[in-house]
Amino acid sequence: MVPEDPEVRGGEGSKMDIDIKSKDENQIVLIIEGVEVPFVNAIRRICMVEVPTIAVEDVEIYKNESRLFDEVLSHRLGLIPLKTDLESITPREECDCEGHCPRCSVSLILKEKGPKVVYSGDLVSQDPEVVPVYDTVPIMKLREGEEVELEAIAQLGIGLEHAKWQPTTTSAYSHYPLIIIDTEKCELCGKCAEECPRGVLEFDDKKNKVLVVDPENCTMCKTCMKDCEATAITVEGQEDKFIFKIETDGSMSPEDVISTACDILAGKSDKIIEFCEGGS
Ligand SMILES: [Zn+2]
Repeated sequence: MVPEDPEVRGGEGSKMDIDIKSKDENQIVLIIEGVEVPFVNAIRRICMVEVPTIAVEDVEIYKNESRLFDEVLSHRLGLIPLKTDLESITPREECDCEGHCPRCSVSLILKEKGPKVVYSGDLVSQDPEVVPVYDTVPIMKLREGEEVELEAIAQLGIGLEHAKWQPTTTSAYSHYPLIIIDTEKCELCGKCAEECPRGVLEFDDKKNKVLVVDPENCTMCKTCMKDCEATAITVEGQEDKFIFKIETDGSMSPEDVISTACDILAGKSDKIIEFCEGGS
């Protein structure tokens, strides 16, 4: 049976609200309201393991006189975050070449001689847009006279295949806390505000009541509930309101990760629509 209330039914009548709680270069925290867990969770998972990024996939080592095994060196290179421009590079599976070519890959050359510590900033990229996010990731230490010479080939991939292609370091949501204080039961002891480890509650002497001053900082540890002898406080998560946090490794901006994830989800939905309408 279809619910009569348009907000319950979803579709055009449903109301979804998004607010930015905080934002910087690598991190964004959103308050999303009017959606359900499966939807938020789908976006979270796609952000984490289906949004493509660039990482080193193949390494051709011409010379390695360091104490690092070739395999360890290649693994380290794979984990260096690289700035990703999804427009300029073709995914491997969509490229006609066998292996790699300039359409689907970017070469980064490393040629150094000791004594020195080799950092990610020493990699010379053939594409000025695809460079290490940070220049200060240590790769190896070369002793006097030791040399290393290699070509690292970076390609697009997704986190489902290998964690080095995950653009996010954090992709998580939590229910928005709902803190209710029953003023009739409250004995105004102020213990809850004292014990809250996150400074969510405050006892206001002037108004002589407990105030919820920072609900978004609540982790729902329920310390306040346990400490309230009068059982005047209840803390629970709102069913349709979420705090959604994305933090990236710097390869892409958090906004780009979310919008690409939504495009991927929309693409999947389009396929279902095409199928249902009998298209190919
Ligand atoms: Zn290719």
